[in-house]
Amino acid sequence: MRMTQMFGKTLRQAPAEAETPSHRYMLRAGLMHQIAAGVYAYMPLAWRSLRKISDIVRYEMDAAGAQEVLMPALQPRELWEQTGRADAYGPVLFQLKDRRDRDMVLAPTHEECITNMVRANVSSYRDLPLNLYQVQSKFRDEPRPRAGLLRGREFIMKDAYSFDADPEGLDISYQKMVQAYRNIFTRCGLPTMAVEADSGAIGGKDSHEFILPAEAGEDTILHCKECGYAANVERASFYLPVLPNERELPIEQVATPGKKTITDVAAFLSVPESKTLKAVFYAAEGKLFFVVIRGDLDVNEIKLSNTLKASGLHMATDEEVKEAGLVPGYASPIGIKGVTVIADQSVTNGSNFVVGANREGYHLRNANFPRDFQADVVTDIAIAKEGYACPKCRTPLSATRGIEVGHVFKLGTFYSERLGAMFLDESGQQKPIIMGCYGIGVSRLLAAAIEQNHDDKGIIFPAPIAPYQVHLVGLNLERDDVRAAADSLYDSLTKQGFEVLYDDRREETAGVKFNDADLLGLPVRLVVSPRNLQQNAVEVKGRTEERGRLVGMGETADVVKGMVS
Ligand code: ATP
Ligand code: MG
Repeated sequence: MRMTQMFGKTLRQAPAEAETPSHRYMLRAGLMHQIAAGVYAYMPLAWRSLRKISDIVRYEMDAAGAQEVLMPALQPRELWEQTGRADAYGPVLFQLKDRRDRDMVLAPTHEECITNMVRANVSSYRDLPLNLYQVQSKFRDEPRPRAGLLRGREFIMKDAYSFDADPEGLDISYQKMVQAYRNIFTRCGLPTMAVEADSGAIGGKDSHEFILPAEAGEDTILHCKECGYAANVERASFYLPVLPNERELPIEQVATPGKKTITDVAAFLSVPESKTLKAVFYAAEGKLFFVVIRGDLDVNEIKLSNTLKASGLHMATDEEVKEAGLVPGYASPIGIKGVTVIADQSVTNGSNFVVGANREGYHLRNANFPRDFQADVVTDIAIAKEGYACPKCRTPLSATRGIEVGHVFKLGTFYSERLGAMFLDESGQQKPIIMGCYGIGVSRLLAAAIEQNHDDKGIIFPAPIAPYQVHLVGLNLERDDVRAAADSLYDSLTKQGFEVLYDDRREETAGVKFNDADLLGLPVRLVVSPRNLQQNAVEVKGRTEERGRLVGMGETADVVKGMVS
């Protein structure tokens, strides 16, 4: 491609609202064009890169035995009502009406649609197992579209769905996808971590996320360098050292005027925070929940929300707390009535705790579980943090920020039951099909690649997904001999199958051309110039190399080949 003909211009500066490196560089390099918040048109360079990503995805999905389909984005809302997700999705679901006033949605994902299609085409165990996938645009009215392609409202996803007759079959389908995902990310030149992920309120089922480590990521991963344990913080557990058993002492009230926070109370009474209990109030679906956890730990709201199976969980306001007859800052689990108490398992690890006295300005010493207070549920609702002990081997956990680029999930029979996707097993019994779902954010992956691979000059494309492999810069092209040499190198490399972007502009300076080459970030830069030509040579430089080297004109192709494969 000759730059004089290519659609798209590079910009000196990115628009002010571009927050992250990938967003800034994709706009500056003319890769995409914004149409609305979180809605982008992919220009030729981005599209070439996205096609390379989806080619790799398709190859590996096909190799794993999946079959490609393409389902509609436009769907009747009624289909979503059958699974309850029309409401559950809330405002994220794009909804519209057709000309006959029928309610329609733009699909954020395709479980309903594919289950409907499979129901009509699968009837016997002989039709299973099955894995179907597509590469397609998804629509989600995200509350905070951000950072360009990282979180869009229309974005490209590869989504796959597996259908099996039994749980063992699902295990195999799931493992095949995990392996296919590893292959895909490795082949894209983008190593990811597979981490345990939150599996939502349904719970208990396997779910893994593929995380690309990068600063701009919204996810925090806790991982163990010793044994390899890795989990999203939403889900991560940890080992809590067991405190020595003490003799349980009698409860005693102490004045703690003005001391409402754990830190203040612990300091005032000269006890470690692990010797206190923290009361936190949450509300959901019009109910108040009293959550109690050891004072040195914090509540993981995702674990809590999964435990409560309630939607719209939020911290209760002081008013909501007072309405329940409790004193904010001094609330106590002791003697509490009419409120559901959820205790973190840490309340069983330790004794003689300091707790609120449910009286302004007072706390109680020597509270013990279950002697002095009970809980409706005792479970793990604590958030894991960097430095806490690994749940498997007790080594301190490390934290990494990253971007979720893929997600695999065992669904079970949630969709097949609600949509009636049944099959007859070998004994002629009717059963719901067991499903799994597997997503890759194709457009997010491009942005994530740039978040992970850039410097202060621009993008550093991993070779397998670069829009072109070679950036050929011609200098002083007003000279016929130089132009002829550059043109002929361009033709020859292109004929040999290299993908070459040829900066054939005559009016731009060397400085501008080099800056653009750095900004676009193709793996190899070649420079044809009067000086290099005197030695019948071309300057070759990898994007991350400090300086280039001269290579004989005739050896250029071989050298480039070694650099891009
Ligand atoms: P997130 O937690 O980032 O909102 P999700 O868990 O809702 O993502 P899934 O429903 O698991 O996403 O979708 C599969 C994949 O699609 C994700 O792993 C991610 O790579 C991609 N993806 C999800 N939402 C978006 C979005 N708004 N923009 C771009 N890619 C997205
Ligand atoms: Mg996800």
